[in-house]
Amino acid sequence: QKAEWKLLKDAKSLTKDGKQVKLAANIGTPKDVEGANDNGAEAVGLFRSEFLYMDAAELPSEEDQFQAYKQALEGMDGKQVVVRTMDIGGDKELPYLPLPEEENPFLGYRAIRISLDRQDIFRTQLRALLRASEFGRLAIMFPMIATVQEFKDAKAIFEEEKAKLVAEGVAVSDDIEVGMMMEIPAATMIADKLAKYVDFFSIGTNDLIGYTMAADRGNERVSYLYQPYNPSILRMVKRTIDASHAEGKWTGMCGEMAGDQTAVPLLVGLGLDEFSMSATSVLKTRSLLKKLDSAKMEELANKALDCETSEEVVALVNEYTEQ
Ligand code: PEP
Ligand code: MG
Repeated sequence: QKAEWKLLKDAKSLTKDGKQVKLAANIGTPKDVEGANDNGAEAVGLFRSEFLYMDAAELPSEEDQFQAYKQALEGMDGKQVVVRTMDIGGDKELPYLPLPEEENPFLGYRAIRISLDRQDIFRTQLRALLRASEFGRLAIMFPMIATVQEFKDAKAIFEEEKAKLVAEGVAVSDDIEVGMMMEIPAATMIADKLAKYVDFFSIGTNDLIGYTMAADRGNERVSYLYQPYNPSILRMVKRTIDASHAEGKWTGMCGEMAGDQTAVPLLVGLGLDEFSMSATSVLKTRSLLKKLDSAKMEELANKALDCETSEEVVALVNEYTEQ
């Protein structure tokens, strides 16, 4: 089986009937690019930039960040690298950036909320990204966007920093895609509005499932409610994908669900464009895709959207993938 997967390293990601999608890798540091390439990833769908902050003793300088982004972009050799701006807060802390004590950190001061408040930190990161953009194919996305205003504000700051660099005579790529993580239920409900402003969506199912079911995966008493295949989640994924396509944009997924072998048939059927997962899942998923007929998967997805329970959905997937 592993030998068969190896043969797929340089292959396109195609379903049985020839529908093409993109399989990408999630990375935490520029060093992970090697693993992404070795495993045949066609892009980096999520570079968790907060590791640059978490692995440092103080706020990383513009120059340090520039070097890290440049290294990742060069390492991917022209393939897209989607860098997510700092996603601190929730369960991720920085020793040198004391955050307020909060009763509900997951509903509190985190991610883009910090970036829009601490613009000194945000602008430094954006400048580093913009300067690195000349060295590959960069895309940027903002984490935890809940409202249209937040996206517009973050994008405006990006445009300001870009204009400043251009005025300073710094070379900056002119086709950096700017998108957002879709990981707050409210955002999925206004996906049609957000789709007008973004270049792409990337669905963060790790947070989206938790917020939607109001259940913490790590809490044993309620973890049974953390249900990736629940029709409520599938409907949010569908809304997001459909809204992006209606505006000629694309949707990826970078949460765990994107590499889940039970979810992949459903996601193909829902029309997901890019699947971003741990590098070690890419070849396995490319192999699975080859066995799936996209029209059949669409039929499966439509039935799944109409199911009552997660168990019913799983039974349907098994039925459709066994034949
Ligand atoms: C997600 O929420 O699905 C996601 C990819 O972000 P993280 O796991 O880093 O919060
Ligand atoms: Mg998240």
